Amino acid sequence: MEITRFAPSPTGHLHIGGARTALFSYLFAKANKGKFLLRFEDTDQERSKEEYVDSILNSLDWMKIKLDSEPIYQSRNIARHKELAIELYKKGFAYACDCSEETLTKMREEQIAKKQKPKYNGLNRNKNIEFAEGMVLRFKFPLEGESKFKDLILGDITINNKEFDDFIILRSDGSPTYNFSAAVDDMDMMITTVIRGDDHITNTLKQINVLDALGSKIPSYAHLPMVLAESGKRLSKRDGAEDILDYKKKGYLSDALINYLVRLGWSYGEEEIFSLEKLKKIFDLSDVNSSPSKYSQDLLNWYNNKYLNFLSAEELSIKVKENSGIDFSEIDNGNLAISLLAKGANSINQIAEESIYFFEEPQIKFNALNIDTNKKLLFSEFSKQLNEIDFEKSKIEKYIKEFLQANNLKFPELGKPLRVILTGKENAPSISELLFILGKETSLKRIEYTLDD
Ligand code: GLU
Repeated sequence: MEITRFAPSPTGHLHIGGARTALFSYLFAKANKGKFLLRFEDTDQERSKEEYVDSILNSLDWMKIKLDSEPIYQSRNIARHKELAIELYKKGFAYACDCSEETLTKMREEQIAKKQKPKYNGLNRNKNIEFAEGMVLRFKFPLEGESKFKDLILGDITINNKEFDDFIILRSDGSPTYNFSAAVDDMDMMITTVIRGDDHITNTLKQINVLDALGSKIPSYAHLPMVLAESGKRLSKRDGAEDILDYKKKGYLSDALINYLVRLGWSYGEEEIFSLEKLKKIFDLSDVNSSPSKYSQDLLNWYNNKYLNFLSAEELSIKVKENSGIDFSEIDNGNLAISLLAKGANSINQIAEESIYFFEEPQIKFNALNIDTNKKLLFSEFSKQLNEIDFEKSKIEKYIKEFLQANNLKFPELGKPLRVILTGKENAPSISELLFILGKETSLKRIEYTLDD
């Protein structure tokens, strides 16, 4: 059975890149009827915070990513990591090293002077130093040959073993290092496929060698190419939100975000809209693009607009009320009003912001319209005739058309000022829909207010 995991360090909130990694890992497990696990890599005591653990859990929950067992905390496995590091030492896969800081600094400086890549030169590799507390343990990295694996997204990855050094697996304070702990935990959690960012490729080769020494099965690996900013540079705080939950606060729907995230590097023919349920059936790593993808706020907005319009007026009402306190059920034609606003909105919050004119009189005076005073007559004529008609959508539309024709007007000459009169805004939805939703009484009252000096 497939077992995947997401292994965030709780040193910050879940951001776009991390959320995509978690999603891909979850979907791959589900599409293969497997399990998805979560492991907090919380061994950095200073930077790991409870607050981030909670925020990552809440983000996954909002994204409807369900865990198949309780989260694992790496910090609780330290004794096990230490035990295995010593076992590798006893079996000859690791050695004790007592090099002082000065020795290491000198080694590094000499290498830099010779324009070599600084790395541990194996000084103590063959000295059979007996391990004692306070010493480090170094992994005996194979000296010859190559380390390789077949990445499920990137294909064959091979690095000459000369590029590596005998890295530390146990520090002098007795704490295990990241590459060792991660390898042991993946083994103990029986992970079959590791899915993570491509910044971990070198780590993977180290971890494969550690797993080999531990006599473990080697999982499959899939490294996700980066998500870049629109500029092609690294994604920064200014581009994607630093905290996935900010999207929730701003009025994005989790279904829209999930659909957007999955399309960051993954495709399925020409299809664009995917429900989570469908993704849980069809997702495959072979459909992930091997080049970086770019974050696009516009595309995320496009998805959110689509998903907002999949919701019923009642569902939208509940969400708007939750996010902003604005209650569309308080006004006449509230359901029509919210559906009309959703057509042009990118978020729940935008619906709330745009909705003011359904709740408050815009109170626009004629001179604020910046049009000829002689047009005033035209508007009083318009409102007089409007008063006469039945307030049905098709009749309002027909009347506007006839009025334009009879007075030899182009639509914007009437539509632009009228939109401002009715809403206080220049960009607002269709005039006939607005008139209909506001109703005859309110519409006429607003026009009269404008014409009245
Ligand atoms: N904790 C690592 C990170 O936050 C992830 C390591 C992994 O997925 O193996 O980048």
